[in-house]
Amino acid sequence: MKQKISGFHLDGEAHWVAELECGHQQHMRHTPPWMDRPWVLTEEGRRSRLGVELECKRCDEVGHAVAEAVREVLESAARQAYEEGGLSGLCAEGRWDLALDAIHTTGLTSAIQRALSQGRSSPD
Ligand SMILES: [Zn+2]
Repeated sequence: MKQKISGFHLDGEAHWVAELECGHQQHMRHTPPWMDRPWVLTEEGRRSRLGVELECKRCDEVGHAVAEAVREVLESAARQAYEEGGLSGLCAEGRWDLALDAIHTTGLTSAIQRALSQGRSSPD
């Protein structure tokens, strides 16, 4: 997912780190000949990159984590409802209705928040 650069700071090893609008960070190392970013060394160069979009891998990871967490919660809610329907003697159609109901009524907020909070961490 693309995110705009909102600022820069130096890390503990004197490498520049770009701060992204999403709250994630990415190192912008200038270590020629591997990484050639002379612009990062000047105030003016850094200012000229504000608003430029970078691909944020962390956002993608968080997106996947949230999707997985949601899928897991819904699957287990549907499965449980379907099994309970069976135990109370419902026909297949009734069990299916219960499972669909469970998908619609199961709370997802806490699973999403858990997945999101795991995505908030240090720079790459
Ligand atoms: Zn991000």
